[in-house]
Amino acid sequence: MNYKTGLDFAKEMDQNDPLKRYRNKFHIPKDNNGNELVYLCGNSLGLQPKATKDYIDQELNDWANLGVEGHTQAKNPWLPYHEFLTENMAKVVGAKPLEVVTMNTLTANLHFMMVSFYKPTKTRYKILIESDAFPSDKYAVESQLRHHGYDDKDGLVLWKPRPNEELLHLEDLEAILNTQGDEIALILIGNTNYYTGQFFNMKRITSLGHKHGCMVGFDCAHGAGNVPLNLHDSGADFAVWCSYKYLNSGPGSLAGAFVHERHAHNKTLNRFTGWWSHNKQTRFNMRHEFDVLPGAEGWQLSNPPILSLAAIRASLDIFGEVGMNALAQKSKTLTGYFEFLLKQLGEDTIRIITPENPENRGCQLSIQVKNANRALFDKLTQAGVIADWREPDVIRCAPVPLYNSYEDVYKMVNRLKEILND
Ligand SMILES: *Cc1c(COP(=O)(O)O)cnc(C)c1O
Repeated sequence: MNYKTGLDFAKEMDQNDPLKRYRNKFHIPKDNNGNELVYLCGNSLGLQPKATKDYIDQELNDWANLGVEGHTQAKNPWLPYHEFLTENMAKVVGAKPLEVVTMNTLTANLHFMMVSFYKPTKTRYKILIESDAFPSDKYAVESQLRHHGYDDKDGLVLWKPRPNEELLHLEDLEAILNTQGDEIALILIGNTNYYTGQFFNMKRITSLGHKHGCMVGFDCAHGAGNVPLNLHDSGADFAVWCSYKYLNSGPGSLAGAFVHERHAHNKTLNRFTGWWSHNKQTRFNMRHEFDVLPGAEGWQLSNPPILSLAAIRASLDIFGEVGMNALAQKSKTLTGYFEFLLKQLGEDTIRIITPENPENRGCQLSIQVKNANRALFDKLTQAGVIADWREPDVIRCAPVPLYNSYEDVYKMVNRLKEILND
C-alpha cells in the first residue's frame, strides 16, 4: 500500500472504503461543541450500535406485556435466547456452534474453565502464562493455584520477554516447555496481548503445549472481533473472551466461552454446574438426576440476563453481515496507515511496541512517545482523541475497522504532532 501524508489521502481512502457505511450504524461520542471525538478506544469499550436500543426495547416491551410468559411467548423467546447468538459468535471466533456459549463474565468464565481444564497432579501442577498477562488473568490463575493448595509463586511459570524487549518469542516458550513441560498442567495465553497488541499463533502454541501433555487455553478478550480467530482449528482446549471490547455489546456485558469439540460429550469432565447446564428437555421437571448438556452450553449455570444478550445480539448481527475477513482486510490497511503516519513523526520521537508484521497484530498500536508522561496523554484527550494510557508510558490506540475512519487516524496523528511541537 502506498500511503500518503495529506488529509486528502485519508478522505480518498474513506471514500473508497467498502465498509464506510458501517460507521453510521454506530453512535460516535461527541465533545461539548457537538464535534465527533476521535474514538480509538474500541479495545477497551466498543461503541454502541444504533440498533442496540431497539433490540433491548423489544425485550423490555415483551417483559412489560407478557411478564413470565415472555420466556416462551416473547417475539424472541427468552428460554432459548442465547441460542440466537451462537452462530454469529461461533463465526467471530472460528468455532463450531456446539463449541461456544455466551454466559457470565470473562474472569468468571476463566475460573469455570479452569475447574475443568486445570487438573493438577503431584508432579504436574504448574500454570504457564505470559509475564505481562492482563492482571485479572494473573490473579485468577494465582488464586486457582492457591485453591488447589499450591504456592502461587512456585506454581506460576512466566513466559517473559527478553531483556529490554516487550514482545514475546515463541522459541522461548518452546525452551520453557522443553525444560519444564512435564511440570506444567495448563498453559493460558492472552491470544492478543492487551498491552503490546502482539497476536499469537494459537495453533502453534496449542500443538507445542499438547506435545508436552499440557492443557491449553486462550483469553481472547483482545482477539474476538479484532482478528479472525481459528479456535476450533487451533485445537485449543478452551477459550474465553468478553463482548464489550471489540464486540461492542456494552459495559460489563456477558462473555463468551469456547470448549473444543473433543470435550463436548465428555460427561466425566469435572465442572461446576447449575440448572442451565442440565438437559433442556427435562430442565423444568426439577426433580431429575443431573443430565449435562453436550458442548459449551453444558458449562452454563444460570438463566442469563436477556437485556445483555439482546445488546450482544444487536452487535453480532452486524458482525454476521460484515464478516471477520472483510474487517481484517480493512484493519490491515487502516492500522498500516496509522503506523505510516506515526513514523513520519520521527523514530526518535515515537516508538511502536506492537509487532511490525501485520500477521502478528490486530488493529491496536501501542506507542511510546519519547519523554512522555501522563500530561501528554491528557492533552491528547483535551484535543478530542480518546485513547488509553497504560503506566509507565504507553498509549494504546485501536483504530477499529467497523467504525473508525482513515480521517480519524489522520486527526489523531496530526493532533499528537501539534502537541509535540507546542
Ligand atoms: C478486558 C480483559 C479482562 C477483563 O475481565 P472482566 O472479567 O471482563 O472484568 C480480563 N482479561 C483480559 C485479557 C482482558 O483483556
